[in-house]
Amino acid sequence: MTQDIAVSDVHWMMDALQSIEVGLLVVDSDHRVVAWNAFMENHSGISTARAIGSDLFQLVPDLPLEWLTRQLEAVAALKIPVYSTWKQRPYLFRFKGYRPITGCSDFMYQNVAFLPLGSVNAESANTCITLYDVTQTACNEKVMNQLNDELAHLSRTDRMTGLLNRGYWEERAENEFKRCRRYAGTSALVMFDIDHFKVVNDTYGHQVGDEVIKALSRMIKGMVRDSDLAGRYGGEEFAVVLCDTDAKGAAKFCERARQDIEQMCVKALGETVRFTISLGFSEINTEVESLAIWLKQADAALYYSKEHGRNRATLFDAQLISS
Ligand code: GH3
Ligand code: MG
Ligand code: MG
Repeated sequence: MTQDIAVSDVHWMMDALQSIEVGLLVVDSDHRVVAWNAFMENHSGISTARAIGSDLFQLVPDLPLEWLTRQLEAVAALKIPVYSTWKQRPYLFRFKGYRPITGCSDFMYQNVAFLPLGSVNAESANTCITLYDVTQTACNEKVMNQLNDELAHLSRTDRMTGLLNRGYWEERAENEFKRCRRYAGTSALVMFDIDHFKVVNDTYGHQVGDEVIKALSRMIKGMVRDSDLAGRYGGEEFAVVLCDTDAKGAAKFCERARQDIEQMCVKALGETVRFTISLGFSEINTEVESLAIWLKQADAALYYSKEHGRNRATLFDAQLISS
């Protein structure tokens, strides 16, 4: 009687396992398939009849042979469950994705569990593998990550020019300042400002003025290295940290920027505008005790350029300029 109840229990349990929305297969120690439920059948296109008794690696040739063998050996040896999430390995079985509307993925993301199966006759080494379809979770997380990246980018970037905005530029410049102080590195800070920009606005209008700022920013972006920090510091005022660059290198950068901008023609709304910039720069050294002082020095040098004819670059020098 007890036996009868146990057998009927096994029946409905098998029915349940057969129809759950989880992939379930069992393999023996020779990788032969012992169980293959309807989920596996539906998604792989391999019938249960064909799967049972087959070598798993021959049945599904594109499985990650080395990795899967390692997991199965670990489960058999340690007799403990082993798990793998979609973040570690997006899928074990390459099943088609079925989310045509979002089109998020053309395969099914899976969390996989490997469970050692106990047996009444001691040394059984069957392993149960379950696959959970986590495509929706993975897609949601991917969308969230994309949105977060976009938000982070927006919060760091000046909308009009695409350069770093002042807040983020200061954060990065502070880090660069600390790095230079810690490792006795040499970097230079350049500040520059468009000459007589009020006249540009008054003569051609604000919209043309905006185009001038954008064209200047594009040029600066093209001139700096990826490691440099180019930011819009204020309206028509810009700041660039030239990383690992000494005063000599910075002087070359400033002179090239000054000349290129002097020769540039900005065409906007039927107008052609030529303009110049004034620059000030300062190399980091032991007397520069903070980012604020570094900025103050570059700004004092910029002021000197403005006071001495504009369209020129000045290196901060404590004797020449009082900061
Ligand atoms: P200076 O050579 O001394 O720098 O003269 P300046 O005319 O450039 O003087 P100042 O720097 O004081 O003036 C900057 C002007 O830039 C004033 C402001 O209206 C204008 N400006 C600031 N931001 C923008 C902007 O985003 N677009 C436009 N079109 N104009 C701006
Ligand atoms: Mg100006
Ligand atoms: Mg200004």
